[in-house]
Amino acid sequence: MSEMLEVKDLEVSYGKIKAVKGISFTVGEGEVVSLIGTNGAGKTTTLRTISGLLRPTNGSITFKGKPIHTTPAHEIVTLGLAHSPEGRRIFPAMTVEENLLLGAFTRSDGDIGKDLQAAYDLFPILAERSKQPAGTFSGGEQQMLAMGRAMMSRPTLLMLDEPSMGLSPLMMKRIMTTIKTLQEQGTTILLVEQNAQAALRLANKGYVLEVGKIVLSGTGRELLKSDDVRKAYLGED
Ligand code: ATP
Repeated sequence: MSEMLEVKDLEVSYGKIKAVKGISFTVGEGEVVSLIGTNGAGKTTTLRTISGLLRPTNGSITFKGKPIHTTPAHEIVTLGLAHSPEGRRIFPAMTVEENLLLGAFTRSDGDIGKDLQAAYDLFPILAERSKQPAGTFSGGEQQMLAMGRAMMSRPTLLMLDEPSMGLSPLMMKRIMTTIKTLQEQGTTILLVEQNAQAALRLANKGYVLEVGKIVLSGTGRELLKSDDVRKAYLGED
């Protein structure tokens, strides 16, 4: 499997605070890769740096063979890398459809109607409520909208930051199933989650982050079986 994303010796700081302390990982084409870890481990910082919103103080990020760690964020989107951010960041006063269309703002080709339909096929509730202000949506519905919006840029790599946050178990299952569907449809996925169990079940590969460093890695199955992961993240003795 060829590598779609290669992160090497990545360091990111906020002023004097080192949030990411030299991490390396890869995401192969067609894979679901999960980054797990507790609060403050550096997961969000890592995703924001990959999408060009933060700049590394050291290390490199290569996407489809091209270094992107100095590329502006809006250009990174056009290369096929989309980010569904933590907290969803939808626009509450705008309708569902308007929020979706914003996801296509970097596209110059004319087939946006088809992608809108693809988002509606993925999450039929978005079609039923397309004219409703997005701020009236529940947490789970907003998550669907955020994912649908990220897909509107037709990414080859979709990064999802804590899609299960605040969702009911049923809604979480629905989101996880959709991630699997997107993978089957050919999208590569980098998933950040505090919910280690759900994220590792889905993952071809996983990495465990602790205070800015990768402390464990393996296949999703290996990590689910690992005693360290079970104790620290799955609440087992
Ligand atoms: P969470 O799951 O709680 O979002 P995380 O693994 O995504 O955690 P980050 O949000 O990447 O972690 O934070 C990593 C570290 O960087 C933390 O110590 C955090 O306090 C710090 N940090 C994050 N954002 C900023 C900022 N804007 N300014 C200063 N420090 C920050």
